[in-house]
Amino acid sequence: MTIRATHAKGGRGGGDDGILPAMTLPAALLSAVERHGCFSGCYRSDSEVLACIDPTRPLEPVVSVACTDCLTFHPGALATLLPLGMTGNALAAALTAHVRSLRSYRWAAGGYHTKGGGFWLSAAYYGDGLFLVDASRNRSSRTDVEVLAEAFKLGVLQPEDPRMVDPTLYTSELAYVDMHAPIANIHTKQDLLASPQRSATPRQSHHRVSIVEFVPLVPAAPLAAAAAAPAAALPAAPAAMLTASTLLPPASPSRSSAPPRALAAGEICPRCGAEVQERPLFTGTYLGCRC
Ligand SMILES: [Zn+2]
Ligand SMILES: [Zn+2]
Repeated sequence: MTIRATHAKGGRGGGDDGILPAMTLPAALLSAVERHGCFSGCYRSDSEVLACIDPTRPLEPVVSVACTDCLTFHPGALATLLPLGMTGNALAAALTAHVRSLRSYRWAAGGYHTKGGGFWLSAAYYGDGLFLVDASRNRSSRTDVEVLAEAFKLGVLQPEDPRMVDPTLYTSELAYVDMHAPIANIHTKQDLLASPQRSATPRQSHHRVSIVEFVPLVPAAPLAAAAAAPAAALPAAPAAMLTASTLLPPASPSRSSAPPRALAAGEICPRCGAEVQERPLFTGTYLGCRC
């Protein structure tokens, strides 16, 4: 299995990752993944299936993928309905990219990683220190924040800020979210808490997730009266911010200092000069069967 993450604004160099634009995929398939309620929206390839669609004709190959959060949702399509030669990996990458873009995640990750003894982690990042994280599949005593920080420490995920390896710098609040429709315009934790698609208690069709904030990057809450400029309201010293940004992957413009406009695929990042395209953030393998 491949752990897959997508990164909206890559720029770590490297070539074309060969991810096809989602518009070349069947609309019903896109619609099905858009409406699937698991939050990370990450998919991995499944083994190929041969299906009988006409009793008088040979079996037809079906390319399918699996949701890395629940591992029970397996959307797929007849190979003949997909771009010629499309593999399960390519389909998983395209669907993952589609959902990530729809939900305005800067990046999302899901699945199992073998580093550090191996762990499950689903996570999505909105920027400005705001994450959705679920590591409950590990059934360990480690918290979601601890697993997230460990993933940064192990290099499984690239931290926007080098301090993200420290689990004490986060706050976390358990929530249940329903992603059957994208939750739009999320910039702060308050936006998530205010959404009708978020519940504080378990609910039908809602999925467990921790709303996690990396405190040093959270913009200061605007005061009702004094609408200070966000940059002036940041608690961190400018020198510290500069130090942090030089250590970043070249891809993570702070939403605090720039309008939160997401670059579209094919556009050139004004910061690193790289073309915006889906890029694999990390990969991994594990020993096991397919279920
Ligand atoms: Zn799922
Ligand atoms: Zn860039």
